Amino acid sequence: MLDSSCFMPQKESQRQWYIRNRERLLLKAREYRIQNLEKTIECSKKWVAKNRDHVRQRQRNWYLRNKEEILKDRKQYRAENKDRINAATKKALMESPKRRETRRRIYARYTKNNPVKVKARRILKAAIRKGIVIRPSECSECKISCKPEAHHHKGYSDEYALDVLWVCKKCHWKFHA
Ligand SMILES: [Zn+2]
Ligand SMILES: [Zn+2]
Repeated sequence: MLDSSCFMPQKESQRQWYIRNRERLLLKAREYRIQNLEKTIECSKKWVAKNRDHVRQRQRNWYLRNKEEILKDRKQYRAENKDRINAATKKALMESPKRRETRRRIYARYTKNNPVKVKARRILKAAIRKGIVIRPSECSECKISCKPEAHHHKGYSDEYALDVLWVCKKCHWKFHA
């Protein structure tokens, strides 16, 4: 059968052939890339390194073109993952060596200045760990559901170390005000 492309100039017929086989060629290229993943990654890394400005410009253009949408997506993502992001930020902050060192120093100073309080808390902590004392899940004052803090309402001596009121942070402040 005589195909019309036979009469086209070389370049045009090549182009037509490419258009007809585009899907198949792209699939093949993709297969090749998957089979040679390391080589592909290596190549694209090299290309990016060599064309850094171009890549940056392209990203910039893409960002400008889609700015509104990107910002909207980002905002939505942040709103939906607020707690997770906050927790991650807090964790990173707490785990920073500088922060840890500061905390350790503050705690060491506190321990030195408040040995009786620290001892009472240590006794209580051990009792909780052993199941002798069970921390309730609400404040005994305002009944709000929370992880209450132990208030040593009879003082910090050993004999009263386990004699505590379980209160939320807010109510606990009132006792110490
Ligand atoms: Zn309370
Ligand atoms: Zn207290």
